[in-house]
Amino acid sequence: MKKLREVRTRKAKVASAIVILTTATIWFISLLIGPSTVTIPSDLHSPSLATSTPLPKVHTTPVPSQAPETQQTLIYVIANHIPSYWGVDSVIVGWNKATNTDFVRSANCPSFKPCVYLKVNKKLPEDTAAQTEFGYRNDIVIELNPIVTKHQEAQSTLCHEMGHTLGLPHISGTANTCMTANDDFYRVTPSALDLRLANSYGKWSLEKMYVLSGKDLDVRSIPR
Ligand SMILES: [Zn+2]
Repeated sequence: MKKLREVRTRKAKVASAIVILTTATIWFISLLIGPSTVTIPSDLHSPSLATSTPLPKVHTTPVPSQAPETQQTLIYVIANHIPSYWGVDSVIVGWNKATNTDFVRSANCPSFKPCVYLKVNKKLPEDTAAQTEFGYRNDIVIELNPIVTKHQEAQSTLCHEMGHTLGLPHISGTANTCMTANDDFYRVTPSALDLRLANSYGKWSLEKMYVLSGKDLDVRSIPR
């Protein structure tokens, strides 16, 4: 299950009761007809209207709050033509248990959004199952070596590289991670430790995750 952090935005209070009521009414109508930008006609602000119309009794029923807004960063995954044995969707489900980010597959990268491109690269060295490159814009490229053909190894590799995109470094001192630099253990989904680390980083940003993913971690150094 995805965990969503929710916030409510505060709206500025308007001095005039009429404007408050009008705003509330228009707001309520806008709720009925669907989300759209509501513009209050300027004549509603006219002093003559305000003085000639008796003030209606305004109940203190709160204006409906705005829809909850997520603080998660949506990261688009462009994984066209990636063979299914890499387990892209399973890895995404695993990492989407992290609090601050949510991977979503997309055919292409929306403008100005963080994107992770998965590509098969036949030219990677034989000893490299995959590599992750942080771009200078909001893009990351994960190159997958087609020399990897076994499902478990492939998915474990992808779990590892996706972990880097969330700032996770190489983790030593435990086998309970898909961020091990040790290539003889294959965990195919993030562990509770992996998710806890990812959650501890706060809001996602490319630069931050690039720096964090370079700081290798021995879990035995973490105070208990
Ligand atoms: Zn790595």
